[in-house]
Amino acid sequence: MKTYQQYIDGAFEDARQWRDSLDPASGAPWARVPMADAEDVDRAVRAAHRALTEGPWGRTHAGQWAKLLLRLADLILDNVQLLAETETKDTGKIRRETSAQIQYIAEYYRYFAGLADKVQGATFALDKSDMEAFTRREPIGVVAAIVPWNSQMFLTAVKLAPALAAGCTIVIKASEDAPTPLLAFARLVHDSGFPEGVVNILTGSGEVCGKALSSHPLVSKIAFTGGPATARAIVRNTAENLAVTSLELGGKSPVLVFDDADLDSAANAIVSGIFAASGQSCVAGSRLLVQRSIHDQLVRKLVDKAGKIRIGDPQQMETEMGPLATARQREAIESIIGSSLEQGARLLCGGKVPEAFPYGFYFEPTILICDDPSLPCVRDELFGPVLSVLSFETESEALRLANDSPYALASGVFTRDLARGHRLSKGIRAGIVWINTYRVISPMVPFGGYGLSGLGREAGADAVQEYTRTKSVWINTSDAPIADPFVMR
Ligand code: NAD
Repeated sequence: MKTYQQYIDGAFEDARQWRDSLDPASGAPWARVPMADAEDVDRAVRAAHRALTEGPWGRTHAGQWAKLLLRLADLILDNVQLLAETETKDTGKIRRETSAQIQYIAEYYRYFAGLADKVQGATFALDKSDMEAFTRREPIGVVAAIVPWNSQMFLTAVKLAPALAAGCTIVIKASEDAPTPLLAFARLVHDSGFPEGVVNILTGSGEVCGKALSSHPLVSKIAFTGGPATARAIVRNTAENLAVTSLELGGKSPVLVFDDADLDSAANAIVSGIFAASGQSCVAGSRLLVQRSIHDQLVRKLVDKAGKIRIGDPQQMETEMGPLATARQREAIESIIGSSLEQGARLLCGGKVPEAFPYGFYFEPTILICDDPSLPCVRDELFGPVLSVLSFETESEALRLANDSPYALASGVFTRDLARGHRLSKGIRAGIVWINTYRVISPMVPFGGYGLSGLGREAGADAVQEYTRTKSVWINTSDAPIADPFVMR
């Protein structure tokens, strides 16, 4: 068993409690991870606060913050295989994907390093002749980043990089499930040379560690990614500290396919949109809306592709789909599929544990035909490899179905009609609309949802501003003395 430590105030340390992390490919424990308690959280937040208010970090400037971010990016690139192997081992996400994603994550640190010295305030054409005023954008303070187990390196990068570029300090809480990639990443943060306390990384339960962190009086901002129920708990926790909160939550993203689309291209995008990461992606295209005239043709292609996906050991580069991350996750998916079938959904493929993988937490790529948009598999986020297919006749019907969800994170449209693509990009209620593509991201482009999918945006140039607050400075430019207000003239 490998043992990981938490990282607080520039030091690696044990916790008072531990938990075993399971390998989802075998179901067996493979690592021991620390479980931080409220006292550990308090030390981490105080270390971050000290680093901001008393340490060298707060006294240096944006150019220095950028240099350290660039060094971290280089170290990530030097350690792609170690980080990818760890993430694959702990989460079951295939190595092909973790390797590519971690390599790309370095670009996020580079992009935000470039923005660090572009933070600016404003001056004003003031309505007072003997006054000057300007604003300064200051680091917002200590940031608490709370992330889930899926894509945790990426979800950390979109919080950590802009927070550091803005001059903040941070405490990152990894999920209690599969936290080892972030605990391994702590070594790279340390080796990059960030001063003590600037970045702290720990893990622990939501109820203890997450609660202590999100309600801590010295935390000024919470950047959260996870499910809507947890988001509500976090918002309640912030009644204690009134921290500014950004929430990146789940999705039930629709993919609309029209009869003029390139069907082979659409089929490839749909399959990777729902079965990549075994469907454990917030932007998974889990609701497929197909125009009736091409419904059977497209569905045949999808079933054929789903049947050919190579399920296997996630560490092997030829594997195309690995296990789910936890047994709990699999049970939840099985239960929603079961109730959807009882209520009229039709199973085209999958829906069970693959015979060749009775161990670990594997689940077959699954396609369900749904005539009723109120079925649980159409309404609920399954966070697994399950595609629910509905059909439509007209564009307006497609739009109505697409917007019929409390979630509104991402969406896809496949059509060769550019005017229709534009119309739908306006009409679809979602933070992201991909036209004739799916699941593309970049550090330059904002990411986030509407409704139950969240609050605030990550990535993009504006992301740094989210980690600053505005101070207004007034200067009296007159030499005339200020009159005593209590002497009558
Ligand atoms: P989760 O909400 O259960 O947990 C996320 C994090 O919150 C974990 O670190 C957990 O320990 C912590 N937490 C739990 N209870 C807490 C509390 N009371 N106070 C503070 N922290 C608490 O989510 P999960 O099951 O780990 O991840 C899956 C969810 O994340 C899905 O809904 C998925 O869609 C969502 N997600 C969203 C995005 C996005 O960018 N929109 C990206 C990835 C995942």
